[in-house]
Amino acid sequence: MFISCSSQHKIIQIPDEGSAVIAGYWSPELGLCSQSVLLTWKHGRVSSLQPLVDLRSRSENRKKFLWDSYTLLPGWLDTHVHLALDSIDFFKCLENWAQPSLIEENIKRYLQKYLEMGIVGIRDGGDLPGFSWLAKNKVNEGAWLGPEVISVHEAVNRAGKYGRFLGRGFEDISEWQEKEKEFFEQGIDQLKVIVTGLIRFDDYHMVGPTQWTVEELRELVDSAHRREILVMAHASGEEGISVAIEAGVDSIEHGYYMTTRHLELMKEKKIAWVPTVAPIGNILKYPSDRYSSHEIDTLKRILDTQLTRINEAYQLNVRVGVGTDAGAYRVPHAEGFYDEMEWMEKAGIPKLEVYRLATQENALISGTPKLGRLNIGTPMKQLQLVNNL
Ligand SMILES: [Zn+2]
Repeated sequence: MFISCSSQHKIIQIPDEGSAVIAGYWSPELGLCSQSVLLTWKHGRVSSLQPLVDLRSRSENRKKFLWDSYTLLPGWLDTHVHLALDSIDFFKCLENWAQPSLIEENIKRYLQKYLEMGIVGIRDGGDLPGFSWLAKNKVNEGAWLGPEVISVHEAVNRAGKYGRFLGRGFEDISEWQEKEKEFFEQGIDQLKVIVTGLIRFDDYHMVGPTQWTVEELRELVDSAHRREILVMAHASGEEGISVAIEAGVDSIEHGYYMTTRHLELMKEKKIAWVPTVAPIGNILKYPSDRYSSHEIDTLKRILDTQLTRINEAYQLNVRVGVGTDAGAYRVPHAEGFYDEMEWMEKAGIPKLEVYRLATQENALISGTPKLGRLNIGTPMKQLQLVNNL
């Protein structure tokens, strides 16, 4: 049994039953408590949270953990990662996929790091060989230590279009319908559909082509919804985002060049937005000589627009998730999540609201509502200790 101590970047081994003095706690359900609290847990789950002043003696129960500089929080979730990518060199990494043991060693390291940094759940956007699906199963079997992995296994893209490393590619909807049953049977937590190509760093407003018509995408979405599976859509640009909204996906990933009209429709349809700022913002935050000054200028424009739109989404009460696209260049696993939270604050979302999105809302987007909460009964391994709230 363990609890993540994200401030120290470590996990602390704890007994199945115990108690600790903590400096307070915060959760979307319970709000903020900034006074000393006695936390007790039984069978690995929180059993009580009592203000310490109410207790007769502070010295009672000598076996208490002294965590009095830490505040207890629900663990974070990152709603968009790619465990099979290394955030350093995309093409080299894809070559390395031919040596699975190498990739698996990387992934084990990332998983450990996620836990050490307080991230107790990750939603993986897939890879063709199925590394993230393997990781999910290894964690579930207890063979690997890591956060709960929600994996799309393999993404659905149009053959010959963007996304070759994410999925096998389907020529058309009839090929999809032929293989649909087998596709779902290989195991899948959510369905990821590639709706558009990538944005370009050298051409503002340019996005790779839209891969599906509304009717085709609706067919894909319905095939998942019939099985009670959520649909995450990789989509950017005015046209692609419109198609995704109309087809009724559950979340829009990236969504660069989102418009106000899109946000209004998303609010109406309760579609969540995972704006993945880090892959753009971190290139500017951690400069290198990889990009030209024209590309840097374009990235700045994209970043500014994205941050403005995120603020608008928040004000409009659109569901917003915190997801990094970790594994992308300059977005290291686990650490990148802290960059993404900072970007959300830069967009003007108050800190504790970012925390709510990073816990409760992310858990809903990931289809795991039992995560991202702190209440009586919450498993200790889904929580974290932080010393700066
Ligand atoms: Zn992705």
